Amino acid sequence: MFNRTWVLACALAVVPALVGAQDFPNKQIVIVVPFAAGGPTDTLARNLGATLTGILKQQVIIDNAGGAGGTIGINKVAKARNDGYTLLLMHIGMSTSPALYRKLPYDTLNDFEYIGQVADVPMTMLGKKALPPNNLKELIPYLKANKEKLTYANAGLGAASHLCGLLFMSQNEIDITTVPYKGTAPAMTDLLGGQVDLMCDQTTNTTQQIKAGTVKVYGVTSAQRIPSLKDVPTLAEQGMKGFEVVVWHGFYAPKGTPKPILDKLVAALQTVVQDAGFKSRLAELGAEPVPVAKANPESLRNHLQAEIKKWDPIIKKAGQYAD
Ligand code: ASP
Repeated sequence: MFNRTWVLACALAVVPALVGAQDFPNKQIVIVVPFAAGGPTDTLARNLGATLTGILKQQVIIDNAGGAGGTIGINKVAKARNDGYTLLLMHIGMSTSPALYRKLPYDTLNDFEYIGQVADVPMTMLGKKALPPNNLKELIPYLKANKEKLTYANAGLGAASHLCGLLFMSQNEIDITTVPYKGTAPAMTDLLGGQVDLMCDQTTNTTQQIKAGTVKVYGVTSAQRIPSLKDVPTLAEQGMKGFEVVVWHGFYAPKGTPKPILDKLVAALQTVVQDAGFKSRLAELGAEPVPVAKANPESLRNHLQAEIKKWDPIIKKAGQYAD
């Protein structure tokens, strides 16, 4: 039944993968970021890439593939060569997109290999500097009274900025026009320029603006205040009961990436999350690497599955506020 030619053909097909695995990495690695350069996902990816470069002794570069709430970049990695040289850093949107999109060009649970969780990043609700309300108590009635003329910036359906706005507007029963960007870096430019009125974004993109006073901040989205912005109250403590969005991030490879390569990447990620420089750069931006026990494939797989289950009913309930 199995003739010699067939066995030889199979053996030859496996050899390149194993040879590739042995000396991995022997060239530059690309991390696809599904959002524009200069934004929060990009900032985290650049810190991750720089630390990985030191560990793997190969250059790790970023490919910004923004648009459609991150789904374009995710799809790019789903279709990339599974040789360990194209990887994906994506956040909570990996788990919200299946509920938000009727049809995705990739299969969230079956098109990827898991490397591990990377970091958790809280968000902040911001207004342009000239927006009249000075705190959340003033903001909510102002939004209700002016909803026809106000705009909310986000990075598209499936972005964390979309999720935060959806939950915020739904909990406060407000419906305002959203303006999607390829990432929250260009959205921040427009918020600073006063072309849009509101945005909720990760602290990795907002801390410097909040400290410089170039935007108005109405609260952080974590359950507790964060040390780098300790004067900024949480939305929950100002009356938005139970409001909590913390943006978790996962590191993925295309399905079928050889196990020896994945093992090397997992070991490298575990070194990154314990690296003092990585920790302190993130802390300055209000973010935190995950504990090393979460920087592994099982933890990411379980978390992704649990998050898909968690967000599906919440998004469906708040659905009328989606873009
Ligand atoms: N992470 C941001 C968001 O989800 C987008 C970005 O990184 O530019 O809104």
